Amino acid sequence: MNDKFDLMEERYADWPRSISKVVANNALAEFRESVGYDSLRELPCAVCSGLCSNEHWTVVSVREINLLLLEASKYYENPFFEVDFVYGHPYICESGCKILLDKDGFIERGTDGKNDDSFDLQICNGCK
Ligand SMILES: [Zn+2]
Repeated sequence: MNDKFDLMEERYADWPRSISKVVANNALAEFRESVGYDSLRELPCAVCSGLCSNEHWTVVSVREINLLLLEASKYYENPFFEVDFVYGHPYICESGCKILLDKDGFIERGTDGKNDDSFDLQICNGCK
């Protein structure tokens, strides 16, 4: 017992020590990320408009979606509803489908020149 105590006393003789800058910066970054605005923010799903936190939605390419599943009923084509079915995405335009999407659920794509898609969709886990 005394040997163990002596060993621990020797090991921690110079405590408390200052924390290294790397450990402190990593801990601060982890803290800021866990309480940051982005992790707490709720964003709308492009399909159902439901608000979901960051961990409950996924970014999906529009091309991965069967647009027929999102086609609006003829009822909503009535001008009374003022639904704008133009989204400015080539895949949707080429399909000729009148689909309903929540534009607040669009994720702008960078212009990397690899394709013409202007946005992806953030979709909640329930709609995925
Ligand atoms: Zn949804």
